[in-house]
Amino acid sequence: MEKKLVLSSDSFLWRKGKRGLIFNPKLGAHLRFSTMNPAMDELCSLLEDPINLYTAKFNLYTAKFDSDEIEDEFRAFVTSVEGLRLGKVVQSEEKILALPPTPFVINHVERMKERGMEQFGIQDYLSILTLYLGGAGEKNEWYRQIDYPFGSKEKLDVSKALLFIGQLNRNTTVCFVVAEADDGRVSEFISHLDRRSVSFVFNPESYPKSPFSCSGCGQKGQCKFILRLSPEDIDRELNRESDFLFEHPDHIDFLVDSPGILQKAEALLDRFRPGNHAFIPVWNDNPLFFAENVRLREEEILSSNRNKRKIHLHQLLNINYWGQLTVMPDGQVYSDVNKSPLGSLDDSPVEIIANELALNRAWRRIREQDKCAECLYQWLCPSPSAFEQLSGMSVCNDVTSGL
Ligand code: SF4
Repeated sequence: MEKKLVLSSDSFLWRKGKRGLIFNPKLGAHLRFSTMNPAMDELCSLLEDPINLYTAKFNLYTAKFDSDEIEDEFRAFVTSVEGLRLGKVVQSEEKILALPPTPFVINHVERMKERGMEQFGIQDYLSILTLYLGGAGEKNEWYRQIDYPFGSKEKLDVSKALLFIGQLNRNTTVCFVVAEADDGRVSEFISHLDRRSVSFVFNPESYPKSPFSCSGCGQKGQCKFILRLSPEDIDRELNRESDFLFEHPDHIDFLVDSPGILQKAEALLDRFRPGNHAFIPVWNDNPLFFAENVRLREEEILSSNRNKRKIHLHQLLNINYWGQLTVMPDGQVYSDVNKSPLGSLDDSPVEIIANELALNRAWRRIREQDKCAECLYQWLCPSPSAFEQLSGMSVCNDVTSGL
């Protein structure tokens, strides 16, 4: 008798070459299979055809299987799909249909380009603008993977920056990365940025000598003061007696590149109120540390995805970069500071966002390249990150079944 396999609307079906994966984030269940078996290959093709609405008819008794082995494998596959509740088998005449999980539709960039980006309210896409103030301060390269102050000959022009910020949507958060100790531009910015969420990132070198008096805008709690410590800072601060640094920040980030630095950061934490801190792993030619603490093993990739929406986001945009722009001290604007600039503070925010949407330096950089494009876990893995760019490694560790 003819039957019908109906996949659940929460189950994703992905195939790469002769390998397949059905993954259901809601149930936390998955089934890997091979489509070397022509009967299964055909079944999957039927499931993938949009016209069939995630269903495929089959008839075990009349199907011409070339061998018992193929038939057994086909039966085992259908039984597993049902057993894991990834789908169900019903009589073929039953009117049960399903819709494959499909990403929400966002404005197609090509159509937007044709009609003019401005028509589409693209200004709303910008959620965070980060501005590096530059000036005296230690030179370093941490900014290439996380917002961290660095010294430079150039200094950000306050009036140009304020003009640019003035054109932004009210909901865009503005973050200043401060390199110079007691930089007068900080209070200048504070006094001009009322009713907007603002944060300041300092390192120990640039952290103000006296606590801030944030009375300018009357919006108590609008400004957030973040202290970020590089591995060198952590080392240095541990040998310093004073607790001054830890008394005022709203939040502290410890950039950690080894187990030793992690231990020191934990020791420093005793001086700060717990809870408002994070340990952030940073790439510092430390492959072992990343292998043990950051890169994902196959089980982790499969078990950490319990959200259909997040998988859709991985298919459409880069969660690490989407909606963020960075201005360097010379006024050049980037979506990814490791790539070339999209424009400068002399351009309008809309022009810069339109450039990013057209050129896709970062916001829509998804796992479409190299081995990820051939991997079954393409949309399960987190969006490509700065670590992968700097290290040349992928986020996965010892993943074989996906490839
Ligand atoms: S190859 Fe790419 S998609 Fe596959 S597991 Fe590794 S990082 Fe993820």
